Amino acid sequence: MSLEFTQRALSIPFYPAAATYEFHGELVKLASNETPWAPHAAVLEAVEAALHNLNRYPDPTGSALRHRIADRTGHPVSGIALGNGSCDILLAAAEAMLEPGAEIVYAWPSFSMYPHLSAMTGARAVTVPLDDEGRHDLEAMAREITAATRIVIVCNPNNPTATALPIEEIDQFVAGVPRHVAVIVDEAYVEFSLMQDPDESLPLLRKHPNLVLLRTFSKVYGLCGLRVGYALCSEDFRIGVERVRQPFYCNMLAQAAAAEAILHQDEVARRVERTAIERVFVQDELTERGLDVTESQANFSWVSLGDRDEAEVMAGLNERGVIVRAGTALGEEGRLRVTYGTRHENERFLAALDEVFAAL
Ligand code: PMP
Repeated sequence: MSLEFTQRALSIPFYPAAATYEFHGELVKLASNETPWAPHAAVLEAVEAALHNLNRYPDPTGSALRHRIADRTGHPVSGIALGNGSCDILLAAAEAMLEPGAEIVYAWPSFSMYPHLSAMTGARAVTVPLDDEGRHDLEAMAREITAATRIVIVCNPNNPTATALPIEEIDQFVAGVPRHVAVIVDEAYVEFSLMQDPDESLPLLRKHPNLVLLRTFSKVYGLCGLRVGYALCSEDFRIGVERVRQPFYCNMLAQAAAAEAILHQDEVARRVERTAIERVFVQDELTERGLDVTESQANFSWVSLGDRDEAEVMAGLNERGVIVRAGTALGEEGRLRVTYGTRHENERFLAALDEVFAAL
């Protein structure tokens, strides 16, 4: 007899994990939108200090970290929710707000976790195609909101297309959404955007109580190995997501690391600048090769392969020790998504791409 699982569990799509590859040499990992730099020395020290307390449970209220986030953002502590990565907050929001008969609206292609939210809860997913430039079509999304809608997600900048919308457009969109609908603006990559300073979305929280700004320490802060993210939201939303989770959802080392990392905004600025330099380099190099790229405001490019075979290109890159993401796994065939690494890694990617194209 085999184990029996619920229909809901069976309908959840598997998260498309990046390919791992047996490669005898230096592997270039450009598949998961990570940053290539090790954590700041002070962050490592904070983690080391916290190691000595691992016989204790973490602070279930995440008090120190939430106060640091409040100091940084000016948002009240009561409206700051932490998570085991920002994905954890998305999953908790789904569990707290979605059920059969309810609806969730998001653009597609967008972050591969969003389809889980309807699948795991039995809610209906309403997906709205991006426009021709790979941007959210907010007017079309607004038209899909009904009395059954509980959550709308806007990924800004969007993963995997890397495009962003100006904050004024987001503001206008949220203003038109009924107050019973949580609008989650997923800002995992907001620090990298030249269209907006991350602080510019904060005043919107005071105007729109149903707005949730979802942020993470996984990207510019480089702490994805520890898993910590947060939401700036209403107290209502925070209590809702806390109700459905285990008490100790954010581990002690993650809290210590994030509380230290947020103090080093000079380091954030340096990383943003270095990423912007690599972005210009990679986007220019790809364009010179005649490849279409969207306008990236993130730490990755979304590249059209034209009429080349996506699977062949991926296999060729893998053979050369370069790991990127295939478009098909992310919602659009004939593309690849490549994260910016160090200059050396980006050059390895481009050289491998040239070799693969020459051999097609
Ligand atoms: N949102 C978006 C758009 C992402 O791309 C990611 C990570 N790939 C996340 C959220 C989740 O990141 P984490 O759970 O590491 O905070």
